[in-house]
Amino acid sequence: MCNVENSASRFSSPPHRHLPLPARWVVAAAILAEGRRGFAPAQPGRERGAAILAEGTGAGSRERHRIRAAMGRIGLQLRATLENITRLRAEGEDFRWYLKLKCGNCGEVSEKWQYLRLMDSAPLKGGRGSATMVQKCKLCSRENSIDILSQTIKPYNAEDSEKFKTIVEFECRGLEPVDFQPQAGFAAEGAESGTPFNDINLLEKDWNDYDEKTKESVGIYEVTHKFVKC
Ligand SMILES: [Zn+2]
Repeated sequence: MCNVENSASRFSSPPHRHLPLPARWVVAAAILAEGRRGFAPAQPGRERGAAILAEGTGAGSRERHRIRAAMGRIGLQLRATLENITRLRAEGEDFRWYLKLKCGNCGEVSEKWQYLRLMDSAPLKGGRGSATMVQKCKLCSRENSIDILSQTIKPYNAEDSEKFKTIVEFECRGLEPVDFQPQAGFAAEGAESGTPFNDINLLEKDWNDYDEKTKESVGIYEVTHKFVKC
């Protein structure tokens, strides 16, 4: 109980700081802390974990919901305006899917962009196979993993222009993508000519070139994305 109160006093959000601690709030936090095997005790620099513990009555059900939400398949949908171009795709086993990943256990989101590649494989603890990425959460120490589902990788075609289309799905076991940054490594081809365009970089969300065969400009514009549950 002391630990819980200490961690709560470090919770620095101004609207909460001056409130007295309701007893049920402390009890709920303590029950929650008890129930979370593997959750590291609050330490300096772990305010965020304390804040999650301190959400108050009902935090237990929210916690369970968050864990469930972090499991299962999540699809990455792309939308772009294509000009005289088709078959925009993530090319090769070494294509880097730059993502920000959230821990489904404690809600921590990685600060830096991390990338997943089809070619990568890391073992899961206890001989439970492997995953594209296995990562221990810096905040709560939970071992989480995520897989790229290779058979779900799809090209974005001329007829998809200006519509959202799922171009890849991830199998999430504790690591959930919450943001995506397209960078280098895309390929596409001329819609009529089939002229190949390789190593397209979409970091600026716009790309253009010139198709020598058709004497037309080609381009990919206003690249956006969203995530969907599959
Ligand atoms: Zn975590």
